[in-house]
Amino acid sequence: MKALIKEKPGPGAALRQVEIPRIGPHDVLVKVIATSICGTDLHIYNWDSWAASRMNLPVIMGHEMAGEIVELGPAVEGYFKGDYVSLECHQACGRCYQCRTGQAHICRDYTITGVDFDGCFAEYVRVPAANLWLNSRELPPEIACLQDPLGNAVLALSSAPLTGKNVLITGCGAIGLFAVGVARAAGAARVYAADINDYRLEIAAQMGAGTVINPRRESLVKKVHADTAGCGVDIFVEMSGNESCLHDGLQAMKNGGHAALLGIPADKVTLDLANEVVFKGITLAGITGRKIFDTWYTTAALLSGVLDIRPVITHRMKLEDYEEAFEIMKAGQCGKIILYP
Ligand SMILES: [Zn+2]
Ligand SMILES: [Zn+2]
Repeated sequence: MKALIKEKPGPGAALRQVEIPRIGPHDVLVKVIATSICGTDLHIYNWDSWAASRMNLPVIMGHEMAGEIVELGPAVEGYFKGDYVSLECHQACGRCYQCRTGQAHICRDYTITGVDFDGCFAEYVRVPAANLWLNSRELPPEIACLQDPLGNAVLALSSAPLTGKNVLITGCGAIGLFAVGVARAAGAARVYAADINDYRLEIAAQMGAGTVINPRRESLVKKVHADTAGCGVDIFVEMSGNESCLHDGLQAMKNGGHAALLGIPADKVTLDLANEVVFKGITLAGITGRKIFDTWYTTAALLSGVLDIRPVITHRMKLEDYEEAFEIMKAGQCGKIILYP
């Protein structure tokens, strides 16, 4: 089969012909129909310090996918050949305190598809049956493969009630753009979306942001305060990892507001903890992964009715065109790029 492999340290990746993966007794083999590029894949492609410290090469990249089961391990029950599936890319250990108390998304020892073992930028991928998600046939593959990053947005916005609330989202990469749609679908009164990339702000408006802010052109804090009679937003969702966004967002919040933080800063950040958090009575929630499988049920239900994420898909390309796809990612001139192997 063809597969996009991170073979060696340094920038880039290579498209190669490799053996179809062998499956264990508890695994299935999935024929990949659609897969999408994640920010994580770009970190690996660029080979930044995170990738260098985490990965053992070679690894087939990719973790967001929709496909069809073509082979089942002898111990797998409840799935069949031809089932239309996606995958939860975090493989929890199943043994730690968090796993045993319904919090497998913050497992102390999880591994990740396409990072710690071979992923889905390939014609076939091995998936442990415990990580399968059965898709509705109504969901097109290019949407079904996005449930993993969409789930990040759903989890970030599940941490506080949204009905009639004002929500600020900083960082309009794919997950930030999804968050705009999820906030609207969940009943937010007004969504403010901020990014320094106008291309992405345009998509944010299509996803339902009532106000888009480019902090290079105007003050985010002033704009929000002017709009909310000096009161601020109820909910702040940080998706950029940028320190100034974190300060702006906290200052643009209502006293007693709720902040969900998902963006990963490149370095340590300094907060004015007393004034930005403590005296304002702010609740801070760290968000990682998706609740397995609570978030998946919520995500699938939103997609079956009130949520349309098609504006976020900006490119559909062949796996062979991966170099061009990663160049577009680097330039930031995209929402989600779908690759067809
Ligand atoms: Zn991802
Ligand atoms: Zn665990």
